[in-house]
Amino acid sequence: MSENDHYAIAIDGPAASGKSTIAKCLARELGLVMVNSGAMYRAVTWKMLELGVDIHNADSVVAALRAMQVECGVEGCFSTIAIDGRWLSEELRASAVNQAVSVVAAVPEVRELLVQKQRDYLKHTSVVMEGRDIGSVVFPDTRYKIYVDASEEVRAARRSAEGVTDSVAARDKADSNRKTAPLLIAPGAVVLDNSHHTVESAVAAALEILRTQGLTKK
Ligand code: C5P
Repeated sequence: MSENDHYAIAIDGPAASGKSTIAKCLARELGLVMVNSGAMYRAVTWKMLELGVDIHNADSVVAALRAMQVECGVEGCFSTIAIDGRWLSEELRASAVNQAVSVVAAVPEVRELLVQKQRDYLKHTSVVMEGRDIGSVVFPDTRYKIYVDASEEVRAARRSAEGVTDSVAARDKADSNRKTAPLLIAPGAVVLDNSHHTVESAVAAALEILRTQGLTKK
C-alpha cells in the first residue's frame, strides 16, 4: 500500500472532552491505528521535568529538545512513545505533567518536531489522530474532521474521577490562546457535543459525522 492510500481522521477538542475514548473506539471499529498526539507533548514535557529544565525559558526547552531522542511506535492499534529509549505510559498522566504540558507545547520548535512525527505515521498506516491541531495544522487536507466538545463542568468532573489534579480550564485557556497552532474548530470540522452522550452513542454520532464527510468503511 502506498502512502497515498493512507488517510487520517482528525479528532480535536479541549482537555477531557472524551476525544481519546471516541478516537480509540473509532480506531477499533474502522481497523485503524489510534494516535494520541497529546501523549507526545506529555512525553517531551515529562523529560524536561526529569532534567530539571526551566520550562518557562524557551531557549532552555529548545536546547533540551535538540538533545532528546523521540521515538514513536505502534503497539496493537495504539501509538507509543519513547524518549531516549524509555517507553512511557503512566508517567505521562502525572499532575506535574498536567501542569507543565501547555507551556512546553506552546514552544514552536517542540510543535515542529512532533507535527513531523505525527505526519510520519501516515507513511505506514491510516490513523485516527486526536489532539488540538490535527484538523487545522497536522492534516488540514483530510476530509474527516470532528471537534469533540463538552461543558467545562463535565470535563472537570471527568478528570477528578480519574483521581488526578488537572486544571482543565487553565490548560484550555493556554492551548486556545497560544500563537502557534491554537486549539480551534478547524475549517471543515463538525462539532460533536459530548456533554451528555454515553460512549456508545458518542461513537455512533462520530461514525455518522464521518459518513456525512464521505467515509465508507474501508
Ligand atoms: O490530549 P491531552 O490532554 O493529553 O494533551 C495534553 C496537552 O498537550 C494539551 O493540553 C496541549 O497543551 C498539548 N497538545 C497540543 N497539541 C496537540 C495535542 C496536545 O498542544 N495536538
